[in-house]
Amino acid sequence: MSPVLEMRGVSKVYGEGPAAVKALTGVDLSVESGTMVAVMGPSGSGKSTLLTIAGSLEEPTSGEVLVEGTSLVGMSRNDRARMRRRRVGYVFQDFNLLAGLTAVENITLPLELDGMRPKAAREAGLEALGELDLTDRAGHYPDELSGGQRQRVAIARAIVGDRRLLLADEPTGALDSVSGEGVMRLLKVACRRGAAAVLVTHDAHLASWADRVVFVRDGVVVDQTAPPAGPESLLAVETEPRA
Ligand code: ADP
Repeated sequence: MSPVLEMRGVSKVYGEGPAAVKALTGVDLSVESGTMVAVMGPSGSGKSTLLTIAGSLEEPTSGEVLVEGTSLVGMSRNDRARMRRRRVGYVFQDFNLLAGLTAVENITLPLELDGMRPKAAREAGLEALGELDLTDRAGHYPDELSGGQRQRVAIARAIVGDRRLLLADEPTGALDSVSGEGVMRLLKVACRRGAAAVLVTHDAHLASWADRVVFVRDGVVVDQTAPPAGPESLLAVETEPRA
């Protein structure tokens, strides 16, 4: 089976001539279904660029990006936009919820833009909210929700409609550590159902939830490693038979 995300020799140069910035150089990254990868590195190292190229919000200068085995190179703008709407879910630090829409409307908007009938979209939206324990907040507007609830709505919007590739940029940035862990747990559940997630974070504790940590420096992937023992591994130890 193809990985959900495959980046092959991806480079990105911003600008031209002496002022050109090499944001990424020859990045290879493969993320299988069921896997969460954390991307860490200093500020300016290329993490956000990697994420936006993975999600086809930007094109690489060279190299190739495949989503579920399909190359984005040469795809028409329309096809790429459709692929993004159907396959890719984004979770950004500032949530990007639309203030004039209720929680459920924020979730159903991308489905309706994609041609789903309003009734079916609403059912899918309510189901996603239910999974995140937010059914009773469906009719609330973003400013009537707590930071943690807003973030859960943003995650519901990212996973609704069976999206396979979840891209998260500091998704817990504005949250306290308890809500932050809740967000990680939700991403993890989505992965168990077959999604692949790429998460940019500065926080080593959050990165310890990932199956793999990728370190980026000056646009180059310098190391890939299994994370140090984190909350999940502690749970795993508890379920093993005692000697
Ligand atoms: P990080 O997310 O690790 O902080 P970025 O991917 O945002 O790093 O940036 C990597 C490099 O590319 C930086 O030197 C940054 O200034 C540059 N860069 C990012 N986006 C642009 C852009 N749109 N135009 C020009 N340079 C950019």
